[in-house]
Amino acid sequence: MSTECIFCKIIAGEIPATKVYEDDKTLAFMDIGPVVKGHTLVIPKEHHDPITNTPDNVLQDLIVIVRKIARAQMKGLNADGVSVSQANGKPAGQEVPHIHFHIIPRYENSSSPRNWIPGKYSSMEEMAQVAEIIRNAVDNE
Ligand code: 5GP
Ligand code: ZN
Repeated sequence: MSTECIFCKIIAGEIPATKVYEDDKTLAFMDIGPVVKGHTLVIPKEHHDPITNTPDNVLQDLIVIVRKIARAQMKGLNADGVSVSQANGKPAGQEVPHIHFHIIPRYENSSSPRNWIPGKYSSMEEMAQVAEIIRNAVDNE
């Protein structure tokens, strides 16, 4: 628990939230500023951040509940698809530094914006160079 963390305060019941799912490790609740109505956040009850410092077992438990909420949005809200999004750090648009996944219901013929605007590499070689840098940095432990 981080005393300054707004999501830890929600877990502790100090700030109200509209919950959709809860178990001993995970909480899912409605985002207060939905991109699309039904937009849900899934968080671990343990405070971790960012994803690069989050233990394997916490992430494994979390992603299974992300799938559960995605299925519930498709079944319950008749969503035609879902976006799953997760930000780390201010440059990525993160506001709340407690790891969370956004699950956003998506509909055909919807006017809600896509997550990002695709960019371009100057050449296939440039893409290959960037890929090589990432490949060499992959931790194979
Ligand atoms: P981030 O930008 O960190 O990925 O996303 C944080 C999300 O938390 C935002 O979409 C924002 O609307 C949501 N949020 C921030 N404060 C609260 C709150 O007090 N209650 C709820 N339910 N959502 C919050
Ligand atoms: Zn927290």
